[in-house]
Amino acid sequence: DVLLSEVVDFASLLLSQPVIEGLTASGFQKPSPIQLKAIPLGRCGLDLIVQAKSGTGKTCVFATIALDSLVTENMTTQVLVLAPTREIAVQIHSVVTAIGSAMESLECHVFIGGTPVSQDKARLKKCHIAIGSPGRIKQLIELGFLLTSSIRLFVLDEADKLLEEGSFQDQINWIYSSLPANKQMLALSATYPESLAQHLTRYMRDPTFVRLNPTDPGLIGLKQYYKVVRSHSMPHKIFEEKVQHLFELFSKIPFNQALVFSNLHTRAQHLADILTSKGLPAVCISGGLSQDQRLEAMSKLKQYQCRVLISTDLTSRGIDAEKVNLVINLDVPNDWETYMHRIGRAGRFGTHGLAVTYCCHGEEENKMMAIAQKCSLNLCCLPDPIPPGLM
Ligand code: ADP
Ligand code: MG
Repeated sequence: DVLLSEVVDFASLLLSQPVIEGLTASGFQKPSPIQLKAIPLGRCGLDLIVQAKSGTGKTCVFATIALDSLVTENMTTQVLVLAPTREIAVQIHSVVTAIGSAMESLECHVFIGGTPVSQDKARLKKCHIAIGSPGRIKQLIELGFLLTSSIRLFVLDEADKLLEEGSFQDQINWIYSSLPANKQMLALSATYPESLAQHLTRYMRDPTFVRLNPTDPGLIGLKQYYKVVRSHSMPHKIFEEKVQHLFELFSKIPFNQALVFSNLHTRAQHLADILTSKGLPAVCISGGLSQDQRLEAMSKLKQYQCRVLISTDLTSRGIDAEKVNLVINLDVPNDWETYMHRIGRAGRFGTHGLAVTYCCHGEEENKMMAIAQKCSLNLCCLPDPIPPGLM
């Protein structure tokens, strides 16, 4: 596959001319390994379960399949994409419109909570591709604003998250049953947990599994470290000590932009304030913020108005900021999937990056070691003092 991807460009996948133009204009010259595998199968109309790590280019897989088969002359909604968070929906929209930039009269819109439904109603009069959160999409179908009879392609991005226990299962079941029986379905995911497997076998007709072999590049180029800190009986002491280490790291490492993950959103805001007050512009993106505030924080990062974004797991998925080359776990995440999602935010597309996880001596340290073993991580202890050439 690696050899193939050396020689194959998007044009040789026999995509329509406008899509090839759009891909080139977006700076995509050669398909990534997962794109090379999945796009031709998807164009044949097969239902696909695409599983590949974060940062391997899954958005472009379904964006290309969707755009290539779109009939723009028909002003009907032909593609429905569900995403688990508003940020991801907005990001998908920007990728689809970029790859669709050479398609005349393409209409692609985002439908998420927190904006007036009346506005959505107007936009749905002209909308080829609808991208949204399960809650809002269900509401728009119920109200009769989003007509489903012409939908031919149904996409679940971050399907593991969408179909996680206790998240959007009921809404997605409802949406699924309101769609035409004869449609194509794509599910894209970084992991393939049991709950996802169960749902997808109910939804899909004989799906094709597309995944990369584990040695494929994805997180190559990302160095992973951990640092054990003293454990205290008082949680705020632990926080203070971790923050101290964090400052040392920031002062020693020539990073571009950093993402810091905290398990608690109250801490996240507090940390943003501390960093900003010490001259390191930081913003926080957590579930406690309104949609506008979250989008604003994301765009600050993208426009380089801040160097550090602090997030909780609620908002971690799909954040794609290409200048981020340092990911910090202020706390060890609760499971290995979350760890992989977090660190996948740095070293996107095989660039060089660094991930550092702080853990307390004892229980938290054990949790980190269990993740390292489960994922066969090449995890090293952070040298003390931190050498200048670490990054
Ligand atoms: P995933 O959904 O698998 O986590 P994304 O679709 O968000 O990954 O893509 C990760 C990054 O890789 C994005 O910045 C995207 O622009 C870039 N990318 C994707 N495909 C290509 C390609 N074929 N060539 C160059 N960059 C790409
Ligand atoms: Mg993605």
